[in-house]
Amino acid sequence: MKLTSLLRAAGKPRLAMIDLDFTLWPWGVDKFKMVPPYFKKDDGVYDSKGVKMEPFPEAEKALRLIKEHGIDLAAVSRSYYYHGGPVLLFYYGWSELFAHQEVFPARKTHHVTKLHEATGIPYSEMLLFDDEKRNIDDLSPLGVHCVEVNPNQGLTLNLVKKALESFGQLSGDQQQRAKIAG
Ligand SMILES: [Mg+2]
Repeated sequence: MKLTSLLRAAGKPRLAMIDLDFTLWPWGVDKFKMVPPYFKKDDGVYDSKGVKMEPFPEAEKALRLIKEHGIDLAAVSRSYYYHGGPVLLFYYGWSELFAHQEVFPARKTHHVTKLHEATGIPYSEMLLFDDEKRNIDDLSPLGVHCVEVNPNQGLTLNLVKKALESFGQLSGDQQQRAKIAG
């Protein structure tokens, strides 16, 4: 079955939470591998040493693919340098893609609880894309569908397609079981 019809048939996630460091770009803003303040020039974004800051190649396309399926995006990052991520999102022209941004240093259960309270969206209808196992281990028990991102590749179109497919199948199975049980 095609992805769109699978999602239509089985329900789709309502919120996709996107980690920033090593998910959208190949550095951690806290480690200052790329040194703030950052600068936007005509042909890209540069750090204070003049090093060009290239995000992962498919990151933007992958974000737009999620949005095209009518799923809201939330940036979730636990960085201590909490201005860094949002500034970069703005410079890359991605701010408007995100309905929510939760960037502060704490376990990601805090970010997700805030989003749940603000939106009323159940955890079972949320997706998380994150390169760190500790975050996935924290959020999986809440019922969030977690997708581990390869920190060398970042968010890719293929990863997003597979995640939406498996979400559709999982929700479909749950609905099927509920029907049988009911
Ligand atoms: Mg990360």
